[in-house]
Amino acid sequence: MNESEKTLPPLTPGTLYLVATPIGNLEDMTFRAVRVLKECDVVAAEDTRRTGQLLKHFGLSKPMLSYFQFNEAKRSEEILDRLKRGEKVALVTDAGSPGISDPGERVVRAVREAGLRVESVPGPCALVAALTASGLPTDEFHFIGFLPHKSGQRRKQLEALKQFAGTLVLYESPYRIEKLLVELGEVFAERQVVLARELTKKFEEFLRGTPAELLEVTQKRSLKGEFVVMVRGVAED
Ligand code: SAM
Repeated sequence: MNESEKTLPPLTPGTLYLVATPIGNLEDMTFRAVRVLKECDVVAAEDTRRTGQLLKHFGLSKPMLSYFQFNEAKRSEEILDRLKRGEKVALVTDAGSPGISDPGERVVRAVREAGLRVESVPGPCALVAALTASGLPTDEFHFIGFLPHKSGQRRKQLEALKQFAGTLVLYESPYRIEKLLVELGEVFAERQVVLARELTKKFEEFLRGTPAELLEVTQKRSLKGEFVVMVRGVAED
């Protein structure tokens, strides 16, 4: 323990810590995130193998339990029991902020309903990184996350947001980015769209244009990697 660590207050027993982790650049790990992972009793992780690598990178070793979309209900109970016993539990996902298009919401609700403590350890989040550097309005925005898989439902959700004045922010997998641009072309043909690709990584880039212009770029370059897709709101047209 170094001098500055000695003065820091210890973690609070019976608290669930939501720990944000890097979305591609390990330098984005915060000092506090490292300390919480070091001092907690157990790490609940979306993918224990992946989180194990992160812990190793920071010279940490901790008991882990898996917490992912399909065991959330069962694991929430277990996490609750641990918190009731006074344990300090850190929740991390594969990348970014827990609960943002990632597991977390259910356990947070259960912990709050049980009258126990939840603390956020903020840090990387693709939504914030993309929006703030996009050049699009940031004062009002609507975060959609991932659209549903079914075409009809996707179209319906986009149509419902046609008159929204703020910036729309979506997450999309690299496998569906072209499909999404086609759909955006059908609903928002003349709008400015910004693609934020590979944020915080070596090949980070921001591409802007109408959906049709961007579709041409993605087809020409067969763009890979992770994307945040933003659409300028109606009032700015
Ligand atoms: N919880 C995460 C957060 O706080 O941003 C999001 C997790 S979600 C399962 C993964 C999606 O986030 C990706 O499909 C992509 O849309 C977006 N994303 C994550 N990392 C990114 C990056 N480095 N660059 C661009 N988009 C990213």
